[in-house]
Amino acid sequence: MLPLPAFAFVDLETTGTHAGADRITEIGIVRVDDVDGVVRVREWQSLVDPGVPIPPAIQVLTGITDAMVARAPSFPAVARDVLDLLRDCVFVAHNARFDYGFLKHAFARLDVAYSARVLCTVRLSRRLFPDADGGHGLDAVIARHALAVSERHRALGDARAIWSFVDGLYRSEPAERVHAAVRGILKVPSLPPQLPADAIDALPEAPGVYLFYGDNPLPLYIGKSVNLRERVGAHFSSDWRSETDLRLSQEIRRIEHERTAGELGALLREAVLVKALMPAHNRALRRKEDAGIATLVDGLPAFMPADTIDARDLDAAYGPFASRASFRTTLRALAREHRLCERRLRLERGAGACFARQLHRCNGVCVGEEPAHTHDQRLIAALAPLAIPRWPLDGPACVRECASDAERVDVHVFRDWHWIGTARDEGELQELATATSRASFDLDVTRLLIRRYRAGTLTLLPLVR
Ligand SMILES: [Zn+2]
Repeated sequence: MLPLPAFAFVDLETTGTHAGADRITEIGIVRVDDVDGVVRVREWQSLVDPGVPIPPAIQVLTGITDAMVARAPSFPAVARDVLDLLRDCVFVAHNARFDYGFLKHAFARLDVAYSARVLCTVRLSRRLFPDADGGHGLDAVIARHALAVSERHRALGDARAIWSFVDGLYRSEPAERVHAAVRGILKVPSLPPQLPADAIDALPEAPGVYLFYGDNPLPLYIGKSVNLRERVGAHFSSDWRSETDLRLSQEIRRIEHERTAGELGALLREAVLVKALMPAHNRALRRKEDAGIATLVDGLPAFMPADTIDARDLDAAYGPFASRASFRTTLRALAREHRLCERRLRLERGAGACFARQLHRCNGVCVGEEPAHTHDQRLIAALAPLAIPRWPLDGPACVRECASDAERVDVHVFRDWHWIGTARDEGELQELATATSRASFDLDVTRLLIRRYRAGTLTLLPLVR
């Protein structure tokens, strides 16, 4: 559930707001470990004798009095336990700079160097709910998410509140969205040093494509996202780096981006740019030329690579598939499920009884026990869910995408599940309506269109010339 294996939700009560001059009076920690999907929660708290009087106003706010801390251990006496609880995990606090700063100073006075990756739940709340009324203070967050709070303004009570805030996010929001926000916040300190400090913040939290440049005029890498800032940030998040991201971090010198109205526009623009500019790091990552569909040849499915596909082929086709290998894997799974013959499907060489027949898992077309046409009819039925739907219109159709701020509208024109172009005004649209050329088959584009069409979320408007 959690995007990283261990978190410590921390809250401190103190004698004031200056990490250097003021002292800690109470520490509350909720340590959460995710071990193979099982979440283990440990709680720890202690009053701490600050060694100085607590200002009366602070005593009123927290309910922690001089008398209460007089018999409590000093910070050095609990430092060992605290350090053990914070070991190897992300430090989480509400307005984390405050709590993290106090603990760092307290440890520094003991000559202990403490550092951790820090997740601030104020920033997390702001990122996920930018338009929330009432701000992102702990009281507002507690009220907004109806969090149960045992003891507000006591360290463990507040630490529990921020843990239940984060825990609850995974119930109320899509996990990917929470992960992305957490990653986005954690990445901040690890931006490649050669990039300007605001390189990420300068990106919009909106759909589009981004281009990473090194020293050469051609880009190193092109990507797309529905949230440019989060996606680009994720490339440089220290905990999520792939080999490619590591190399990109070393070579990158600047970032450019283009906004699109929506996800489809970003996908289309990325496909065009990657094809035209062939960035070095994209070629290693995606092999779109491997993609294809399957058509029936003599009644049996055969793989057809992307570059040989013509629009008419999609009328009686299956897929799309990422590669010939994935087509064969799919076919093999169907054979197993429906007792089809892998030899007849050309998945297995040789003659006579197929391997599955020997295990009584093939109905026996290979040994003449099932008529070929019966087998092939069962095959067609088994393939039916993979059939590419008929293009529902006579000619080209548009899909309108509107940016959430409504400032940008893209009109994408398609025909036969192929993309013809994208218009941003009436003139461009008329040009596309009469265009005869078409972009070549693109796996991701066709797949996204068909997925949305099957889900009933694709609105195709006929394009009138
Ligand atoms: Zn067989």
